[in-house]
Amino acid sequence: MVDFSINEHDQKVLDETNLMKKMIDEKYVRYYDIHEEELLPPELPEANDWKHLEPMLAERGKKDGTTKPGTFGMLRSIECTGSTGTIALRAIAGGLGNAALRAQGTKEQQEKWGHLGLAMAITEPSCGSDSKAIETTAHLDGDEWVLNGEKIFVTSGIKCKGLVVWATLDRSKGRGAIKSFIVMKGTPGLELAKKEHKLGIRVSDTAAFVLKDCRVPRENLLGGKEEIAAEKGGDFKGLMATFNMTRPGVGAGGTGMIKHASKIVIAELKKEGVEVDWEQGPAKRSALQEKLIDLEAQIESSALTVYCAAWLADSGKPNNLESSVAKNKGGDASRHGGLLAVELLGAVGITEDHLVEKDWRDARITDIYEGTGEINHLIIARALLNYTSSDLM
Ligand SMILES: Cc1cc2nc3c(=O)[nH]c(=O)nc-3n(C[C@H](O)[C@H](O)[C@H](O)COP(=O)(O)OP(=O)(O)OC[C@H]3O[C@@H](n4cnc5c(N)ncnc54)[C@H](O)[C@@H]3O)c2cc1C
Repeated sequence: MVDFSINEHDQKVLDETNLMKKMIDEKYVRYYDIHEEELLPPELPEANDWKHLEPMLAERGKKDGTTKPGTFGMLRSIECTGSTGTIALRAIAGGLGNAALRAQGTKEQQEKWGHLGLAMAITEPSCGSDSKAIETTAHLDGDEWVLNGEKIFVTSGIKCKGLVVWATLDRSKGRGAIKSFIVMKGTPGLELAKKEHKLGIRVSDTAAFVLKDCRVPRENLLGGKEEIAAEKGGDFKGLMATFNMTRPGVGAGGTGMIKHASKIVIAELKKEGVEVDWEQGPAKRSALQEKLIDLEAQIESSALTVYCAAWLADSGKPNNLESSVAKNKGGDASRHGGLLAVELLGAVGITEDHLVEKDWRDARITDIYEGTGEINHLIIARALLNYTSSDLM
């Protein structure tokens, strides 16, 4: 049976995480939003004060009734992420590239690189949503792959230790020829081209790279399969499956940010005597109360789709459709809910007096990376209608 209730121990973990996040919000969040050019230190000075959270997390699996790990991760993200965004106390070796390594890498490759922070480099100046159109090439020369191309919008491109680079072995062979390669930082031929300046999630660095005759060892091909597969098979499908695990996480992050904004809004409106009286019918409610209800409904519905996708993954069931639904609802809640939160505070909503405007800016990305809203609509439609990507593109 699907059950998202949590036991006492898990609640304590959430409460402690919330205290830690409150400290991060108060001390660091606005600073790194304003000082986008600065990179976070590998570990914040307060890390030692929160060491007790690690054993509490490790204890979870041993207690009765603990929520399954994926679902709990989403709960933590929605309930505690808030404006903190990607500010963690400690450096965590976990980027989108690590998810690809887990999904595609051999056991040896996972052991070799799994402990390092890896970014994912798919997007290029001429291709974003249509990732099978990538132009970066890889060819074998002796015992080395030689990579050439350009990659843009690489999350954590500056901070990461290495990149998972998507490249084609033969452009005429379509997606069956697309492979991914580990390219470690410092490899000759991998050049940092620029760091982006962004509207939101400014604490998360985003970089562009040029690969110019960049040579990596033959064993850096993820999964190790060198042959070009038939058009519909091969590594590409597996690579795309990486996102089934990460899309609910993106939805959860955006939902968490808007939930954080809504808590501020609710507290501020309460000071002015505006609260939702759930006993009253709609005819007696003010426009503000109606907007508050709308905001809460968006957050709740988005959270439920996220938990559903994570619960399926935890239970070893397919979740391609549900992952995209969660990502989509998270994107909607971020765009519409974020705007509602800002509107509800009136002019104050766009000042730096509160973190609401920052939550709104930060959450905007939810609907862009790891598949835009439109692309996730396509995935949902294909799954519901049993269409392939060639039937509906
Ligand atoms: C902050 C940030 C971090 C990022 N991090 C990474 C990363 O770590 N690694 C990485 O590889 N990429 C990353 N990206 C890139 C991101 O994944 C792409 O921006 C995204 O895939 C969209 O691609 P595009 O920008 O080229 O837009 P396009 O694909 O050009 O799309 C433009 C618009 O057209 C719509 N559209 C496109 N195709 C269709 C269609 N078939 N039907 C209907 N509408 C369509 C899109 O939804 C969008 O609204 C990041 C981007 C940002 C902004």
